[in-house]
Amino acid sequence: MAKVLVVEDEEALSQLLSYNLGKEGFEVATSFDGDEALMAVDEEKPDIVLLDWMLPNVSGVEICRRLRAQTETRDIPVIMLTARGEEEDRIRGLDQGADDYVTKPFSMSELVARVRAVLRRTRPTIAGDVATFADITLDRETCRVRRADRDIHLGPTEFRLLDVLMQRPGRVFSREQLLDRVWGHDVYVEIRTVDVHVGRLRKALNRRGEQDPIRTVRSSGYALDETYGGR
Ligand code: CA
Repeated sequence: MAKVLVVEDEEALSQLLSYNLGKEGFEVATSFDGDEALMAVDEEKPDIVLLDWMLPNVSGVEICRRLRAQTETRDIPVIMLTARGEEEDRIRGLDQGADDYVTKPFSMSELVARVRAVLRRTRPTIAGDVATFADITLDRETCRVRRADRDIHLGPTEFRLLDVLMQRPGRVFSREQLLDRVWGHDVYVEIRTVDVHVGRLRKALNRRGEQDPIRTVRSSGYALDETYGGR
């Protein structure tokens, strides 16, 4: 459930991208011009940026250059969206640090595949088959979870809950955010249901005397405890 920032000034294309990425389970933020894009990166902290080449105010390649010039944004992967025939632009884009490019017009399935591929390469905890946090591993393909040397048996809800928390260790997720990501937008679930499932997750993960990797943040929500080092 990575967050994608779509920087594209053509509204129809932006909507199409948002809709399709949302359907594939991505969180999507949008920005329509170059100035706004740099602010949006600061605010939204995206995991990946889809960057149109031709934008009002500041060009895509200039945005890419600026992202690469700052420590906080240097590692955010960028996929450039270029028009057909702009071969030179592509080379310049890659020169300025873009991770990949897609030529318009493109199919949504191609684009989603590229986004996943770049994320797998650059953000393995979010998009890879296996996520790791200290001595805990979660395998998305086989749905197996291990802590140190033992198998942890989780129900499907607890599995998704742990998956969400492991995507951003340290980040505090509110109960509403967890409801949204684990149960989905359309389902009506009481907010305290989250507490019940976090309780079950803890019970499955922790043996007596072991450190609890999940931190309850009073009146805010839950996070993976960054001080957790295993056992
Ligand atoms: Ca454009």
